[in-house]
Amino acid sequence: MAKAKLDEAIFKAYDIRGIYPSQIDEGTALAVGCAFGRYIGKGKKVAACMDVRLSSPSLHKNFLEGFSDSEPKLVDIGVAPTPVAYFAWNYYGFEAGVMITASHNPKEYNGFKFWDRKGWVSMESGLGKIKEMATSGTKCNSRKMNIEERHLQTLDDYGRFVLSKAKVKKGIKIAIDPGNGSYCNLARKILEKAGVEVVEINGSPDGNFPGRAPEPKQESLGELISIVTDGGLDFGIGYDADGDRGIFVDSRGRVLRGDFALAIFVANMLKGGSKVVYDVSCSDAVIDVVKKAGGVPVVTKVGRTYILAAMAREKAALGGEISGHMYFADAYYGDDPLFATMKMAGILSSKGKSLSQLVDELPRYETVALELHAEDSVKFRIVELLTKELSEQGDEVITIDGIKVVTGKGWFIMRASNTTPIIRLIAEAKSKKELDALVDYAKAKFEKAYNKLGR
Ligand SMILES: [Zn+2]
Repeated sequence: MAKAKLDEAIFKAYDIRGIYPSQIDEGTALAVGCAFGRYIGKGKKVAACMDVRLSSPSLHKNFLEGFSDSEPKLVDIGVAPTPVAYFAWNYYGFEAGVMITASHNPKEYNGFKFWDRKGWVSMESGLGKIKEMATSGTKCNSRKMNIEERHLQTLDDYGRFVLSKAKVKKGIKIAIDPGNGSYCNLARKILEKAGVEVVEINGSPDGNFPGRAPEPKQESLGELISIVTDGGLDFGIGYDADGDRGIFVDSRGRVLRGDFALAIFVANMLKGGSKVVYDVSCSDAVIDVVKKAGGVPVVTKVGRTYILAAMAREKAALGGEISGHMYFADAYYGDDPLFATMKMAGILSSKGKSLSQLVDELPRYETVALELHAEDSVKFRIVELLTKELSEQGDEVITIDGIKVVTGKGWFIMRASNTTPIIRLIAEAKSKKELDALVDYAKAKFEKAYNKLGR
């Protein structure tokens, strides 16, 4: 059953992910468990969690067998959303943790996310070392290990923690869609305790994800949208399979991009002088509302690690990404969409406004996201050439992540994908006309650079 050799392609920038069982199987779990144990050192107190995927229990079992080599004191939390795992690490002061999940990937996938004493482990921190150890083929001894089951206690403590931060007046009605994932039952129960009326769909945990795709987006949230609009509910939210992302639907059925959800939290929660972390591809609406609220915007590269690091370093109050990760200082700087749901219910009940009204109060921008085909061999060089040429001709060029070009009419970003032969183009302007002109300009520059480098 065990793989002869580990597939190195499963080691991604922030976690391990691949298709089960062709890329990740029980043998992989054993090797990765052993490597993680050696990475964190002997006898550490560590939490283990998993999502609802069909392959999670057997990967979990084999991971622990490999992990026992370093004789940890293991706290087994069982099936729980990623934010609960992160909460447990923080609240109980564990030295490390593992979450067995492939986040929002389709059901065929699975993987591992790790955190150590400093926080989430990425390729830039310790994942490279774990990869080296897992692929070296060193012999691993499985030993007897002390395992403490802490499923119910953790869920109770988590619920109490979230409720201690909630202030929701009666009368808020919402719909939630955990997509048969890890937040099933749990999110509804905690929200109901806070006095929120909840309609839950796709609410039974099922690793086949029969209700919808594990990633919440416009195309997968159709049922949630109808329930919110038909029922005249205040809002809806769809969580991804492991529950660390949430996408809001407003009372008019509009799906809210993550950066616009962040802008709503900023506009309605931020105290003057506080900092807000956002990534370079977020809408200018975020910067506008942060400044209006007397706050300080802090920009980072795209990616959870960068946002989390900046949140901690800057002691920021809020953070967010387009993808629907929402970060709160009072949720231990973590990204927790149930926390976000609770905060949103609290905002609406205290303001007496609907989410659609709050969306309409935000600064308006036209945005578009496109993919331009460019071969792997040339895609990064295209971005380099564009950076050089556009800087030389006097455009304002920001190179924090790919290339961001700011003109008087708006901005565009071009970034080469790490995994596929494409360059992503994101553009934003005040009007549709200006946006079209900006996109034409960006595409023309791209074509010219591509031709120059030889296509
Ligand atoms: Zn996720």
